[in-house]
Amino acid sequence: MEKRKILVTRPQLPPLNEFIPLLADIWESRWLTNNGKYHQEFEKALAHYLGVPYVCLFANGTLALMAALQCLRIKGEVITTPYSFVATTHSLKWNHIKPVFVDIEPDYCNLDPAKIEAAISPQTTAILPVHVYGNPCAVDQIQNLADIYGLKVIYDAAHAFGVRKNGSSIFNYGDLSIVSFHATKVFNTVEGGAIICHDLKTKKRIDYLKNFGIANETTVIGPGINAKMNELQAAYGLLQLKYFDTVIDARKYITDKYKKGLQSIAGIRFLDVADDIDYNYAYFPVFIDELQFGQSRDAVFEELKKHDIFARRYFYPLISEFPTYRSLPSAKGLHVAHEMSRQIICLPLYPDLPDEIVDLIISIIENMSEVSAAKISVNVLSDLNRNHDLHKK
Ligand SMILES: *Cc1c(COP(=O)(O)O)cnc(C)c1O
Repeated sequence: MEKRKILVTRPQLPPLNEFIPLLADIWESRWLTNNGKYHQEFEKALAHYLGVPYVCLFANGTLALMAALQCLRIKGEVITTPYSFVATTHSLKWNHIKPVFVDIEPDYCNLDPAKIEAAISPQTTAILPVHVYGNPCAVDQIQNLADIYGLKVIYDAAHAFGVRKNGSSIFNYGDLSIVSFHATKVFNTVEGGAIICHDLKTKKRIDYLKNFGIANETTVIGPGINAKMNELQAAYGLLQLKYFDTVIDARKYITDKYKKGLQSIAGIRFLDVADDIDYNYAYFPVFIDELQFGQSRDAVFEELKKHDIFARRYFYPLISEFPTYRSLPSAKGLHVAHEMSRQIICLPLYPDLPDEIVDLIISIIENMSEVSAAKISVNVLSDLNRNHDLHKK
């Protein structure tokens, strides 16, 4: 058998035989983009499936983020997290907004609500938190602060497709949420994304913004951009939606298998799912405490690589470490984010990841822990001997 590289994720595709008739239909109609039939159908299907009022499709999640900031006319300073994918902060930068980093909490690696207030200045206009790995932020506390200080809340919910809190979509929180349908995400349309909003007026405004600001043949209402999703991707997305529940079941199965295999190893921690959350199993993040485990996160990362298993260190380095952002005053400190960033490794997780590979990954980590346990006991023994020798002298 040819040796296959195991990557952190492998995109799920709909059955090709179901896609071909949709492609034939698009070929026939010659309607490729600009709010076509599949675009309209996909927006409605998503809103219905997720239980949200309005969905605005985008070419990708980053353009959705940038348009969300434009839609609410955000400027000045925005409070955000250093523990995310760079697109979160880049979207601020492209809108000439100053990012203000606030540290995360250690339980879910989301923005620490207790540290937000101290970062609010007269220039602050909004909070841009991220539901990291799909685990919801402290949405009620964040909304409370936003209400007190008159701030907008835009959630970067790129990881959170399908996540519910108390039975309601996590996209229903904040003024706007954006999601990514990139190939590496839990739900993909190859590339793609969306803004979720609560009312039709806002949807209209967002739809103008993603299509050059064009309102009709002769009216351009403002400096929009081209960020539209095309018909091929919308049709593909409709098929993806049909299979999403089975995708979640498969991801849950693998997650449970990992947890069972790794739970008794000292120095390994994973994230719990809170009682009121329906989770999407978007990632399997593991935190390695070097002192307890006996070896570093990077040692685990390298050892897996030797077996052609490519885990990912999401999120290392922190966004606040990159040259564009590291000179910001708020890039200093951030101790929890730094510690989590040192410990994190996301293990491979996708619906058709074979059981044997999961077992192999577990046994590699287990062996490393046994080796380090043996090393520790040798050290303890030699310390004992040394003490013993000292006593003899
Ligand atoms: C993937 C991702 C994005 C960007 O989405 P694209 O669709 O790739 O542009 C933004 N924020 C976070 C947290 C992401 O993980």
